Amino acid sequence: METAVFKFEHDMPVRNYPAPRWTGDEYRALERAAELIRNGELVAFPTETVYGLGGNALDPEAAGKIYAAKGRPSDNPLIVHIADCFEFYRLCSEVPDEAMVLAETFWPGPLTMVLPKSFKVPDVTTGGLGTVAIRMPNSAVAYELIQLSGVPIAAPSANLSGRPSPTRGDHCVRDLDGRIPMILWGEDCKVGIESTIVDLTEETPAILRPGIITPTAISKALGREVIIDPALLVNHKPYGVADGDGLLLEGEKDAPAPRAPGMKYRHYAPKAPMTIFQGEPDDVRRRIETEKAKAEAEGLTAGVILFSDDAFEEAARNLFADLRKMDDEGVDRIFAGALKQSDERGFAVMNRMLKSAGYNVIDV
Ligand code: AMP
Ligand code: MG
Repeated sequence: METAVFKFEHDMPVRNYPAPRWTGDEYRALERAAELIRNGELVAFPTETVYGLGGNALDPEAAGKIYAAKGRPSDNPLIVHIADCFEFYRLCSEVPDEAMVLAETFWPGPLTMVLPKSFKVPDVTTGGLGTVAIRMPNSAVAYELIQLSGVPIAAPSANLSGRPSPTRGDHCVRDLDGRIPMILWGEDCKVGIESTIVDLTEETPAILRPGIITPTAISKALGREVIIDPALLVNHKPYGVADGDGLLLEGEKDAPAPRAPGMKYRHYAPKAPMTIFQGEPDDVRRRIETEKAKAEAEGLTAGVILFSDDAFEEAARNLFADLRKMDDEGVDRIFAGALKQSDERGFAVMNRMLKSAGYNVIDV
């Protein structure tokens, strides 16, 4: 299949600039992409979190194509992207007031809400679940594509399953060229890790996937307690969190199944074996230098991922791109420095970094 790749000059957040002025070429590309979506085809498009691989969320065949193009297991549900809160009433059987509060506070933005699904959402889209995950992304290209399509767009990250999520247009081209009819190449992703997922279907709202919008911010917006899915804490043995803070779950035997099915899969994996070093930043830096020198003495090449101590947002923005760069360079080993997980954004980035490294962590 021939893949049309179109580059935008005018992608931007819609939160602050609601009316982008497209060039004629840009608008025609958006119309073409919307037509593909309406015809049940797939289009990769930018969002502020990571690039999405989109199809008509209400068309079971289109949703099925997404799983096939990515090589994604079919029990891993898709997030449905909308451009107007009105869609709540088409997609959900019930819309709690708290969904509106969170939408007003954080949308368009990197927050996904899980709500009871309506009969209009096909089972393929939700991996057979009775709930649907919904988000309004903060990208002008995404916004216009959804508006012009006239349908909500189901989209997982636009990578091949198991590869790091794409945060730049060229990442999508690399993974999906020849597999889908069109790629919209907009801005580099400003957030860089996937959205926070909050489940609003139970008594107490629960974070199913950590992201840049923190549990504390959600709890503040709702004015009540928010819990963290205990499955998220398994295998996190945080540096920067005092013992007894309830996050030390090393060696937990009966690990609970995550409530976001996708969280159980191997994810974000670079090709080279990756080790995370955690401890005081200076010790970590020295240890990584030593390990790198040791690897090089054995004739191996090593890549280093080391963010400055509290640059959580920069780390989120760059982690996946850095992992892909190491793949492209063909390094033999990857050494990374842990981020402080006592910061909720640090915790969110570490959730991805730990998966990338297969939980291979050394305390220094
Ligand atoms: P991705 O599209 O690659 O960002 O993955 C979407 C994530 O959202 C996966 O981890 C899914 O398991 C999760 N997800 C989607 N729909 C639901 C749902 N209805 N309930 C819980 N988790 C969901
Ligand atoms: Mg993904």
